[in-house]
Amino acid sequence: MFKLSKKIQALPPYLFLEIDKAKRKARQEGRDIIDLGIGDPDQPTPEFIIEALYNASRDPANHRYALDQGMPVLRRAIQGWYKRRFNVNLDLDTEILPLIGSKEGIAHFPLAFLNPGDISLVPDPCYPPYKGGTILAGGRPYIMPLLESNNFLPDLKKIPLPLRKKAKMIYVNYPNNPTNACASDVFYRQLIEFAAKNKIIIVSDLAYSEISYDGYKPSSLLELPGARERVIEFHSLSKTCNMTGWRIGWASGSRQLISALAKVKSNIDSGIFSAIQLAGVAAIEGPQDYVKSICAIYQERRDILLDGLYALGWKAIKPKATFYVWIKIPAKTDSISFAAKLLKEADIVVTPGVGFGKYGEGYIRMALTVSKERIREALERIKKIS
Ligand SMILES: *Cc1c(COP(=O)(O)O)cnc(C)c1O
Repeated sequence: MFKLSKKIQALPPYLFLEIDKAKRKARQEGRDIIDLGIGDPDQPTPEFIIEALYNASRDPANHRYALDQGMPVLRRAIQGWYKRRFNVNLDLDTEILPLIGSKEGIAHFPLAFLNPGDISLVPDPCYPPYKGGTILAGGRPYIMPLLESNNFLPDLKKIPLPLRKKAKMIYVNYPNNPTNACASDVFYRQLIEFAAKNKIIIVSDLAYSEISYDGYKPSSLLELPGARERVIEFHSLSKTCNMTGWRIGWASGSRQLISALAKVKSNIDSGIFSAIQLAGVAAIEGPQDYVKSICAIYQERRDILLDGLYALGWKAIKPKATFYVWIKIPAKTDSISFAAKLLKEADIVVTPGVGFGKYGEGYIRMALTVSKERIREALERIKKIS
């Protein structure tokens, strides 16, 4: 009856619909589904963070509208963490902006800089809000393929010259969802040079900066020279602290970019519940050994899953970071059909690569967010049908 806006009509189709439907149906039939599809930690939020929320929620001062720019105590905690983790000094008032989850900031950011028809450079496959946020702001995503032959990094040299001149922003996400690729400082230096030369904003999504293995520590673009004035970085407590449902993250970087995003947000939301901000302070400033134990759990699962898949002759790179395994489909079929086959014949849910963009075709993504016992069971089931 009512006509949807052109922007809504232009959003990419939701390709997981059929798999979602099949998954629900299988569950209703009582089948024992192993869900390797969801990128959502299975472990609970650490107890001391829950305790901090409980205490803060009892204080009536925390029941009122929160400050738009986030509580100073939270920004100070983020400032301290940045210094400890990356040796980067951020200004408390102008270079840090708490968010209602980083997805919120990532999706709203293009509203601050894109005019109708403006270009943003978006990797493919990618986390969907890069394309969605661009389209909702009236912009047009220009796709940068992430290919295995280039270590799933965008090939900046291949971006046509006129588009470089036209583009307003470029998205990067390392450690990467869904491919689990990581970026070297060499790539980051090239990216900064590319962005400086073409006057492009760099939007960097660091949701997985703390989920890493074998001693690897992902870096922040803000550590590198020339980044400060053109980078906005998005961080989240969702994955680091098993807090996906709580909705708390932040943006940091260029004061111009931060203040522009703050302006957009002041017209849309009214800040994060103060008690959750104080729980966030506890998460950032409390004992950090739980992050290590979270990574140790994923690392053990990673090794079990990868050894099992290799034994079956499947091809996948062992992740250095993130809790995703990006697997080449071991058959001549497309990713949606292969995911459907795994669900139908083995009661296993995986995410078809094409759901992250057309260059995700040929792959499936498995998440390490189920117990090692269930991963072993999944491997047994795959063996039976191969
Ligand atoms: C999970 C995830 C986020 C975090 O989203 P929140 O809104 O902070 O929960 C951001 N980027 C990527 C690539 C993710 O996978």
